[in-house]
Amino acid sequence: MQSLLIKNGLAIDPVSGEALRDILIEGGRLNRVARRIKPPPGCPVFDAAGLWVFPGFIDAHVHAREPGGEAAETLESAARSAAAGGITSALLMPNTSPALATAALLAKYRRRAAGLPAALYFSAAATAGRAGKKISNLSALKNAGALAFTDDGSCLPRGLLAGLIKEAAALGLPLLDHPEELRLTGSGVINAGPAARRLGLPGIPPDAELLAVLGDILAASSAGPMHLQHLSLASSVAALRAAKKMGWPVTGETCPHYFTLSDGEIKTDDASYKMKPPLRSPADRRAVLAALADGTIDLIASDHAPHESRLKAKGFRGAPFGIIGLETLAPLCVTELVLKKRLTRKRLSELASFNPARLLGLKRKGRLLPGFDADLTLLDPRRLKRVPGVFVSKSANSPFIGRPLRGWPAATVVAGRIVFLAA
Ligand SMILES: [Zn+2]
Repeated sequence: MQSLLIKNGLAIDPVSGEALRDILIEGGRLNRVARRIKPPPGCPVFDAAGLWVFPGFIDAHVHAREPGGEAAETLESAARSAAAGGITSALLMPNTSPALATAALLAKYRRRAAGLPAALYFSAAATAGRAGKKISNLSALKNAGALAFTDDGSCLPRGLLAGLIKEAAALGLPLLDHPEELRLTGSGVINAGPAARRLGLPGIPPDAELLAVLGDILAASSAGPMHLQHLSLASSVAALRAAKKMGWPVTGETCPHYFTLSDGEIKTDDASYKMKPPLRSPADRRAVLAALADGTIDLIASDHAPHESRLKAKGFRGAPFGIIGLETLAPLCVTELVLKKRLTRKRLSELASFNPARLLGLKRKGRLLPGFDADLTLLDPRRLKRVPGVFVSKSANSPFIGRPLRGWPAATVVAGRIVFLAA
């Protein structure tokens, strides 16, 4: 089997912390992690001096648009985009067309995802056809390889919530919710705030998220584990913090745009800033940063949501919700979180590697220990580069184009193979 020696990098383990380490990979697994390792005969050596070596980043919230949206993204382009962004594993959302809601469809697309440069895992629709009327056949979906259940794009129906939580827990798989009360969102397209008023656009009230978050937490308090997707509000993270203090089994994620941007930065009717939930106030952004630092938020996911540029050109009223994020997650985390000293590299490795691995039950991922999968994210903290206007992704709907960032991937290793190498 192939071997590879990664020398002189700063290895960042989410539990034991960081140290200069050589990492020997054999047969797709980490074989040894030590201060100095002599290369075995014939073993290729990668010099990682000056680089930060993380257990592979696991992005628990990705839309790959296949089937039905292949003009915006495919499994293949999503996997290449992930590899270019230092993401070694991604959990795909089931709101495709048709929805990934049956064992047969899941099996078909899992076969298509095999052998791509990043590991693609699938979540399946929590309700039949993602229609919100009755619970899917969850055990059949688990048997077909689903790693989680969600109706992402839509909130889980309140009337089915307790039943869903119990069934998912009995199967040992996580239930993820997109917390949004649609009747409060109404026709809103942007956070109800100063930018909405200035641009004359219908606002989405913060309560649309908060009300659903509170309902999810209440259900979890009695029924069992629940994971809250893309939290964007100070009140949401305060509720999550309180729930955790009570010992209730709730976890939560946020995305780089919620800790980097606020709605005040939306100057024109530019739909590359349109996503759900919407960019919130500067106070919300600060609260999300605090919740990342203090352990309230468990993981960072991109909510990579590619759309064709002809659709995004329609402005806030006409364009679909969502921005791409696979290729900017790592440098945004490094630039906004670590280099601004809001959190440590070790905490970042919890948020981007260890905690998503635990949520998804990926037992051999998320740490730099012998026996673990040889998935590595090697980031360059010194290299300063502006976000380019063209991505490996088929889409380019990003509000970060032109923004100078550090911490770009230097190399990405998946199952012991270098799947991306910076030019
Ligand atoms: Zn969502």
